[in-house]
Amino acid sequence: MSAPRLWGIDLGGTKIEGAILDPERPDKALHRLRLPTESERGYDHILGRLSRLVGMLEEASGLRRPERIGIGTPGVTVPATGLLKNSNTICLNGKPLAQDLARILGTRVSTANDANCCALAEATLGAGQGHRTVFGIILGTGVGGGLVVGGNVLTGPHGLCGEWGHNPLPGEETECYCGRKGCVETVCSGPALEKHHAALSGKTLRLPEIVILASQGDPHAVETLGRLREKFGQALAAVVNILDPDAIVIGGGVGNLDLLYTPETREAVLRHLFNDRFETPLLRPLLGDSAGVFGAALLTASDSGDHG
Ligand SMILES: [Zn+2]
Repeated sequence: MSAPRLWGIDLGGTKIEGAILDPERPDKALHRLRLPTESERGYDHILGRLSRLVGMLEEASGLRRPERIGIGTPGVTVPATGLLKNSNTICLNGKPLAQDLARILGTRVSTANDANCCALAEATLGAGQGHRTVFGIILGTGVGGGLVVGGNVLTGPHGLCGEWGHNPLPGEETECYCGRKGCVETVCSGPALEKHHAALSGKTLRLPEIVILASQGDPHAVETLGRLREKFGQALAAVVNILDPDAIVIGGGVGNLDLLYTPETREAVLRHLFNDRFETPLLRPLLGDSAGVFGAALLTASDSGDHG
């Protein structure tokens, strides 16, 4: 008898992806299917799409659904209430998603936010493999993260664990959508960098164009990326002072930039660290866009996530 398969679903604003993994070879999906979310049609429609995808996975695999399915969600389920919050797929906010899915699918479900799923996948199967405590960062349109300790992703009573993107940066005043000012996300996210560059140069450019300009010595582009390095270092040092993780994996579109992996960026962290050395590896993710769905499946093999 082979080991029970791990089933995971990554619920995104535009697509829903499902995968079935073999726990003995979890780095390769046995089956992997996608459906458009059609989130504009509302909450009940999304529940129906998720149910349909599970049916499609049963058909493709010839297996019955397992007794527990892992689901990565945008936003986070508040453990105390079971309600989803902070989702950019607005119609999910305030809804008991995990509980409704458990009822509709007839299985137990484990949910976690997408950043936590990515962190779990990278820590278990990807760049962070072999490290006990892994801080998995998403640095892209938004700034978030997840903390994995010994193969389990930590959630916390508020569902807040890893949300370093809304820590304030000293001296920064830009208003954040969260209602506070100077959040890391308002300085280090892709849109924030593009805005900063536009304010300096008077030109609206995308980040990849700014990176090319910087490599050619354009002063506004160089300033924009230099600022990213310094502020990222400062923001990350605050995390390292508290968690001192064994490894940090930097995902997301901004996380792709070569400059984050240079000695100069390590020095920027060290300048703000309560220590005279900074030796934590800063790693590029290895799983690409598979991390979300793989992490969701791995929730069912760990004590991670919230259970409905
Ligand atoms: Zn904020």
